[in-house]
Amino acid sequence: MSSVPVAVVTGSNKGIGFAVVRALCKQFPGDVYLTARDPGRGQEAVSKLQEEGLHALFHQLDIDDLQSIRALRDFLKEKYGGLNVLVNNAGIAFKVRDTTPFAIQAEVTLKTNFFGTRNVCTELLPLVKPYGRVVNVSSMASNSALGGCSQELQQKFRSDTITEDELVELMTKFVEDTKKGVHEREGWPNTAYGVSKIGVTVLSRIQARMLNEKRKGDHILLNACCPGWVRTDMAGPKATKSPDEGAETPVYLALLPSDADGPHGQFLSNKTVRTW
Ligand code: NAP
Repeated sequence: MSSVPVAVVTGSNKGIGFAVVRALCKQFPGDVYLTARDPGRGQEAVSKLQEEGLHALFHQLDIDDLQSIRALRDFLKEKYGGLNVLVNNAGIAFKVRDTTPFAIQAEVTLKTNFFGTRNVCTELLPLVKPYGRVVNVSSMASNSALGGCSQELQQKFRSDTITEDELVELMTKFVEDTKKGVHEREGWPNTAYGVSKIGVTVLSRIQARMLNEKRKGDHILLNACCPGWVRTDMAGPKATKSPDEGAETPVYLALLPSDADGPHGQFLSNKTVRTW
């Protein structure tokens, strides 16, 4: 078994995830795994980094596929006995002009951004080694969507005692409410992406609390962040940040020094803790 530190970035064949891998290849003292659901796109991305003189390793990972997540989990367990850095970056967003019915957009978006990310956490968090760093890439869209929720929902999402099961129930209810056409009446905002990222931010707060309760002595730091508005296939060419600039906050959180006792359980943008 290798004692080399290991970092894993989900959805990193392009966009912000790719830029996070690039930065980690330069700064992380260990093996860096670029992961992608499509091995062809993943290997191509690894070759692109190779041309820059950077050495990333590849492992397949489709966060919508539990078998794929578990294959990565088993690989990490066997080869490294765990992992040191996990950046949950993979995500999707329908384009504003997309005419797919809202209920379908809700189901598909929540499936990857919330349920997929949660499944990765369920399988990989137990493997995170002491002094490990976990970064969940959320979005400022989670904050604005929170503002668009009913007072009752806002209270639940800001609660310091909400459980993961309760959060899953709420995310499932959102999808069901969109199918029944009652989501607005039930206090939800009109954004599937925003609600999915509320899920990611609140999940991060819960997971950080659980680490405090169950693994306090392990000094693991886990946070959610927004990369900013970044020029990728998701956000388009008018966005203000380059992918490398978008990677700065996730990379900062992934490389928090071993003597840091925070941030933990926070939501950050531009390397700054934001109120939730
Ligand atoms: P992007 O260029 O569209 O890249 C998204 C990445 O996620 C791609 O590598 C994609 O793979 C991967 N992915 C999607 N579904 C996946 C799945 N089921 N399993 C594994 N990988 C999957 O988007 P981006 O702008 O870099 O976004 C990265 C993260 O930042 C997302 O979580 C996004 O919500 C968040 N974010 C972005 C912005 C922005 O302005 N760009 C702002 C706030 C937050 P494929 O190539 O196979 O599709």
